[in-house]
Amino acid sequence: MPFSSLGLPDFITKRLPAHDYEKPFPIQEKAIPAIIEGRDLLGIAQTGSGKTASYVLPILSNLMGNMGADSRHVNVLVLVPTRELAGQVADVFRSFSTFLPETVRTVSVFGGVSINPQMKSIRGVNVLVATPGRLIELQSKNAVHLSSITTLVLDEADKMLNLGFKDEMTQIFNLLPKKRQNLLFSATLSDDVTAVNQVLLDSPVVVKIEGDKENLSLIKQVAYNVTEDRKGPLLRYIIKSNDFKQVLVFTSSVFEAEKVVDKLKKNGIEARAIHSKKSQGSRRESLIAFKQGKVNVLVSTDLLARGIDIEDMPCVINYELPRSPKDYVHRIGRTGRAESNGDAISLITKQDQHHFKIIQKKMKRSVDILESDDIDLHGF
Ligand code: AMP
Repeated sequence: MPFSSLGLPDFITKRLPAHDYEKPFPIQEKAIPAIIEGRDLLGIAQTGSGKTASYVLPILSNLMGNMGADSRHVNVLVLVPTRELAGQVADVFRSFSTFLPETVRTVSVFGGVSINPQMKSIRGVNVLVATPGRLIELQSKNAVHLSSITTLVLDEADKMLNLGFKDEMTQIFNLLPKKRQNLLFSATLSDDVTAVNQVLLDSPVVVKIEGDKENLSLIKQVAYNVTEDRKGPLLRYIIKSNDFKQVLVFTSSVFEAEKVVDKLKKNGIEARAIHSKKSQGSRRESLIAFKQGKVNVLVSTDLLARGIDIEDMPCVINYELPRSPKDYVHRIGRTGRAESNGDAISLITKQDQHHFKIIQKKMKRSVDILESDDIDLHGF
């Protein structure tokens, strides 16, 4: 099915191939016509499924001719769990806004940085992408008017609820006009998400994309059995011997992330840690350096497992396994995105073996396990 049969205007569909969007992903085929029609939508889909464009394109299309004259009022509100996702979603809105006959202004706001520049930047904005806490702050300072919102999007709703934003979200819902379109995206349909869905959505179109299986088939998964003391050298061996230029390494704690970065740097590998204890500026800078190839390895904790959009990430390494099998899938889903292949490598100690069996059972895939005892790690 081509993009042109989904109800999008020509000025959008004609320009999509220039963005390498040749044909719609499954979620886009289903979500775009429903959103254009004005329906509420529940999208159960992972990052990597193309969910961002599935709402950005129809929202921009619906905004044409409908933005109203009052520049103090926001038209579209997108709530997201993290600063990174806020930046990425706003970028997608902006990149597709260049196609449009009318100017659409998109701004992202998030906590952890000074509020004053954001207060100025949101004047005259059409699309506001926000983390819930900062939006409440801005609203309490009377910097933003939410009474003209026609479309509300909750992106990664499960993560927002996991991060404890439930009260802020409810507070925000109460500030919005009753008549509006609601779009809720979540990787999972947990009880919390179901509860939000029940208050928010009116006879929604439900789109469920079994993204895991599709995406996982593009990912070559292997694991190495390794002793705790050989983990660091093995990590460096894997990176160096494969000549990996872009690797995302996951640890389970901030402390371990810092330790791994330290050791990588001492061994001549350009690495940065990116986790919740880093400032927004430092996280953004690391991400840019990584995207530009100046940094080869990013070491991250699970907080950022989902929000980062780096196309064609060749390799993800689990230096430590996550506790939840779902997080394992989210982590390795950073590679094999947008229909390109990737490697996911896990380092498994004796204590991890049972847990790794559970992960494989839950994702319904078995992973090749290699022994690392015979690998000569001298000099790594
Ligand atoms: P998302 O799930 O929104 O994070 O999207 C994952 C990746 O897929 C992003 O890099 C998008 O730019 C890309 N993408 C989304 N839709 C399409 C499409 N129809 N064709 C090609 N790439 C796409």
